[in-house]
Amino acid sequence: MSSNASRVSNDGNEPTPFYEALAKALKKRKAKLESICPSSEPVSKRILEEYGAIFVADKKVIPPPVCVFTNEEQVTKFQDDAGWEVETIGFDEVELQPAAMKQLRKAREEAQKEGLDITPRDGSEAARRNYEDSVRLWNSRFEPALDYWLAQGRLTQQQVDRLRGLPLSQQVAEVLELEKTGIYFSKDLSKSILYSIAAPGASQHIAMLAFDVDQFENPRIREIMAKHGWFQTVLSDLPHFTFLGLKEKDLPKHGLRSLEINGQVFWIPNVPGVHPGLDK
Ligand SMILES: [Zn+2]
Repeated sequence: MSSNASRVSNDGNEPTPFYEALAKALKKRKAKLESICPSSEPVSKRILEEYGAIFVADKKVIPPPVCVFTNEEQVTKFQDDAGWEVETIGFDEVELQPAAMKQLRKAREEAQKEGLDITPRDGSEAARRNYEDSVRLWNSRFEPALDYWLAQGRLTQQQVDRLRGLPLSQQVAEVLELEKTGIYFSKDLSKSILYSIAAPGASQHIAMLAFDVDQFENPRIREIMAKHGWFQTVLSDLPHFTFLGLKEKDLPKHGLRSLEINGQVFWIPNVPGVHPGLDK
């Protein structure tokens, strides 16, 4: 079996800058960066640079019209327009864009031939989610973190009440600001909430291009997923795979660079300085 080292080899070529590859990809789709992700919104920009791999995906993939959806109606319209397929795996029904589902099925077949399997982690929530799901999941990190930092004396009751009362977009912005001072909101409170759960309205699961794999720890499973266009693109979110529909060797041309952490290969937007703590 090939190793991770050969998986990340890029023939010594530097990956294309993400924004250059993105401009090209959006032009083909007749889309404008400014309408997808307005430069006036710092949160949008951060999200694009964290989760933006789906915007440079293969043409069979339909990326969302915005980096951050702001309501359920907008999500429903996108999901209806893009369409999805349903597959029952075990007791769970999972839903994905057709191109993504096709390759997931192929990956499962390949795994099963080897006596392995690829199954959803945490039931049907492993694939398509709606806007409401993304808000609920955000709160599942946001609320306990507020309680913790209040108990630690790092936030006052007044600050906590104010944060709870903010409109979501402002809440996200302020959480990301607090994280710069070490007040983290991930599940284990040691890193950014964005590596634990997507900002509300920004999940690749809403785009129906993400699948959380129960067997993510098996390197052969990760290899099979990659062979079928499924890659890990969200740092630290270990079970989370993203459908890009591209060949792994072509990812650098599409503005993504690889980062290997504990033997797992992540493909992230090639934007210098976004992950200062992780770059050696
Ligand atoms: Zn996920």
